[in-house]
Amino acid sequence: MAKDTIPYKIYLEESEMPKYWYNVRADMKNKPAPLINPGTHEPMTAADLAPVFCDELIAQELDNDTREYPIPQEILDFYKMYRPSPLVRAYCLEEKLQTPAKIYYKFEGNNTSGSHKLNSAIAQAYYAKKQGLKGITTETGAGQWGTALSMASAYLGLDCKVFMVKVSYEQKPFRREVMRTYGASVTPSPSNTTNIGKKILAEHPGTTGSLGCAISEAVEVATTTPGYRYVLGSVLNQVLLHQSIIGLETKIALDKYNIKPDMIIGCAGGGSNLGGLISPFMGEKLRGEADYRIIAVEPASCPSLTRGVFAYDFCDTGMVCPLAKMYTLGADYIPAPNHAGGLRYHGMSPVLSQLYHDGYMEATSVPQTKVFEAAEFFARSEGILPAPESSHAICIAIDEALKCKETGEEKTIVFGLTGTGYFDMVAYEKFNDGVMDDYIPTDEELRKSFAKLPKVD
Ligand SMILES: *Cc1c(COP(=O)(O)O)cnc(C)c1O
Repeated sequence: MAKDTIPYKIYLEESEMPKYWYNVRADMKNKPAPLINPGTHEPMTAADLAPVFCDELIAQELDNDTREYPIPQEILDFYKMYRPSPLVRAYCLEEKLQTPAKIYYKFEGNNTSGSHKLNSAIAQAYYAKKQGLKGITTETGAGQWGTALSMASAYLGLDCKVFMVKVSYEQKPFRREVMRTYGASVTPSPSNTTNIGKKILAEHPGTTGSLGCAISEAVEVATTTPGYRYVLGSVLNQVLLHQSIIGLETKIALDKYNIKPDMIIGCAGGGSNLGGLISPFMGEKLRGEADYRIIAVEPASCPSLTRGVFAYDFCDTGMVCPLAKMYTLGADYIPAPNHAGGLRYHGMSPVLSQLYHDGYMEATSVPQTKVFEAAEFFARSEGILPAPESSHAICIAIDEALKCKETGEEKTIVFGLTGTGYFDMVAYEKFNDGVMDDYIPTDEELRKSFAKLPKVD
């Protein structure tokens, strides 16, 4: 297939880099529903949230109106160490697929933490430091967020306590050591170091944990230790705001070459990379300036958008956090231990949930084995060993490119390649040995979980 004139990698000059984050909520007619107090069902105020989160981040969380947030110089300087991330034209993949589609991916795996999570980690650590805090607590599932936060904390001299979902703690000992190398303390969750951890262990003995459990433990420690706050790596509005750097860079790079994507595809766990990638494009769509197909891809084992309900739910299993209105499988739902750990969250970003509910984006789900087939195909075509999470997006990008092959349409596909899979070799091993399973929850299981949703009118 003839190559066109677009370079293999589109980089941005330092002078072309975005200087602000874009807040897509400013352009949403239907704003995401506010976080509410689980007892009173009143919207959470800044004062209610202050014991848990950093002040500046609370302001960002509650701000549905400011369109642009200037990125503080210290964060811009940190970004310079690993950004811009490349926007790659997947010529090799196109060639292998023999598709007329033009495929681009935004690769966020080029930093030591290996994923896009560092974009928000440095922002959150920065605001904690600015507030004069001593440290921060958090949860990590697959380990990418914990790693990113450890790096950011080390850079700024903050203490960092990470609760790591037990199944990942055991499956990914090297992830744990990376975090410890950056100075973080890492505790497998559920643990008996917190009251909520003890309670969860008593109720679910032998549980391999979940993000929801780990969040509860991290929040408990933050709210009971002076000088500490809790930070979260996905789901929240503020995280999508920071991750808009991905989409802004992508848009600037595409505009440089007059490329207009037909569809934008991303994997969706809590929604932060997808929310970030699509934000400027979604902004144009919301303002009626352009149209794009936007597709969220989730695991069939944890299908919040495609099979969940749009309702107020707890963000954590221990039910200590505020309620968020989102597509959810129920906070009590503990997904099967699939290998895309970063996508094993029961809920979805309230921003993306609202946009999906209002018909601005599509969602689809894929079973695990199919995801790894796509990962393998991608690794052998483009060279990069993708994270299992990212491979959900690869899988649907390939499907769409193959559809173009049938119809002869030269569509432009952009997808988010959120990270590398070096710490996921246990998963790749299962796939290579042909012993990977495709757990998909039954309707009955989901119904049981929905029955436990908090009643909010
Ligand atoms: C955490 C993670 C995800 C999923 O999280 P989102 O908040 O949905 O973006 C996807 N890919 C990688 C590599 C991750 O680390």
